[in-house]
Amino acid sequence: MESCIFCAIAEGSIPSHSIYENETTMAFLDINPLSTGHTLIIPKYHSSKLNQLPISFATSLMNTIYTLTGPIEEAVGATATTIAFNNGSAAGQEVPHVHCHIIPRFEQDGGKSVHSIVENPSPPSADLSNIVLSIKNLI
Ligand code: 5GP
Ligand code: ZN
Repeated sequence: MESCIFCAIAEGSIPSHSIYENETTMAFLDINPLSTGHTLIIPKYHSSKLNQLPISFATSLMNTIYTLTGPIEEAVGATATTIAFNNGSAAGQEVPHVHCHIIPRFEQDGGKSVHSIVENPSPPSADLSNIVLSIKNLI
């Protein structure tokens, strides 16, 4: 897609600090990193949400995440990483091309876990069985 910044990065028409590339995925440093080594991994296929990607690209994306997480941690001396997708605008996604954030984490970085990302959690539901059923019916 012409107007997509991450498609343009994948095509090489916009420069990036690329750290890895294969036939179906690419990884490059985030231009506005939350920590040293903050990396974005994208499929070479335009889709805004993970659940709209063809399964082959989703699988390949996971392979690249797996391949890069260890080297990223080691390169920047991190003992942990937060690995996350903002999957849709309500989740804070700003660039509408699927991307996974790998964010190196440090004991003193002041950050929290993914449990901190929702400020107004839904009240606890007594009806977990119905939620399970609703999801199962859609798989
Ligand atoms: P989102 O909120 O969509 O999950 O995050 C988008 C990320 O893309 C942000 O962390 C932002 O810094 C990064 N980003 C946006 N534009 C560019 C760009 O042109 N180059 C690179 N390397 N990163 C970008
Ligand atoms: Zn795109």
